[in-house]
Amino acid sequence: MSYFDHNASTPVRPEVVEAMGSALATLHGNPSSAHRDGQRARAAIERARDQVAALVGAEPASIVFTSGGTEGDHLGLVGGARALAARGRRVAVSAVEHHAVHGAAEVLAGDGFAIEHLDVDAYGRVDPARIDRLPADTTLVSVMLANNETGVIEPVEQIAARALARGMRLHCDAVQAAGKIPIDAARLGADYLVISAHKLGGPKGVGALVLAPRAPLEPLQRGSAHEHGRRGGTENVAGIVGFGVAAESAARELESESRRLTALRERLERGLIAALPDAVIHAAAVPRLPNTVNVSIPGARSDTMLMALDAREFEVSAGAACASGAVEPSPVMRAMGVPRVLAICALRLSMGRTTRPEDVDALIVAVAESARAVRAAAAPEGVA
Ligand code: PLP
Repeated sequence: MSYFDHNASTPVRPEVVEAMGSALATLHGNPSSAHRDGQRARAAIERARDQVAALVGAEPASIVFTSGGTEGDHLGLVGGARALAARGRRVAVSAVEHHAVHGAAEVLAGDGFAIEHLDVDAYGRVDPARIDRLPADTTLVSVMLANNETGVIEPVEQIAARALARGMRLHCDAVQAAGKIPIDAARLGADYLVISAHKLGGPKGVGALVLAPRAPLEPLQRGSAHEHGRRGGTENVAGIVGFGVAAESAARELESESRRLTALRERLERGLIAALPDAVIHAAAVPRLPNTVNVSIPGARSDTMLMALDAREFEVSAGAACASGAVEPSPVMRAMGVPRVLAICALRLSMGRTTRPEDVDALIVAVAESARAVRAAAAPEGVA
């Protein structure tokens, strides 16, 4: 199979497999135990904390290990909003956030918080000036760093500055951005920054919430002093060790991989347009992640394309969701105002460390062949 779904999850790096195997085999102790075995596990976690902090230019003490991006989003948004509730019970969430953030907002709505939805432009970007018009009792704003479907990079630095000027805090889901573009937590200005290991060559089920100094947080899991009382539960030692190694490798390769993937993205987009001149690359005009292409081929519905490509041994992702036979545009495409006929044909092609130029060339041929077959099958009788 040729894998073009790295935004869903990317293969675990060999050095991570090795480090995790060794951690599982040798680190028996509970990291909270005072004896020698416990302290060896503790030391491994603290080393990983340094490695993860370095990836985002943060202080190690600001890292709270979680079970992944979804938990990080819940801990940051729900835990942050609850801790700020004395000042106001309103949060603002961008329309293009991942389900994990919308889910966290639903938890807050259940608690009686008001939720503001921030619209986006045709590229899926939040206008920083929108922050100035939020009701004064808004305490927390959530805008992601890079979109998982389109790769579009949000103007988070400008949004953070406007939020700060109004005494609001910023939650930023950087799950897709971490390891793909440089992140300097302090410069970005996010109070609650979320990352996940399995998007950068680490294992699934581990991530981190990066807290700015003095960002208030009400823990969601209580009862013990783990993670300095910010997240109860015995740490996933091997997972955290793997996350640390992945973060270190991703940081080391970031510049060269970014350059390489940008060239592959351009090659892919050029090839797709040459083969299918009516294909539309979404948000091509604005800064995007180096590895992500979101393309609609008119008349070739994404669910049918996904199967046609799978039969040709190419794994991609559909930008549209299929619910009981009916294809619905993704909320991201809808928020961008993409016409329905195009939105239901959106395909996400995401590349990574293992993607080579010849894979891209083969994908272009496979997409073009699949689109021709899908269009021919969909065409009414007598129409070629
Ligand atoms: N946020 C974004 C933008 C994502 O793309 C994802 C995963 O697809 C998540 C959050 C959830 O992360 P995890 O799979 O680690 O729970």
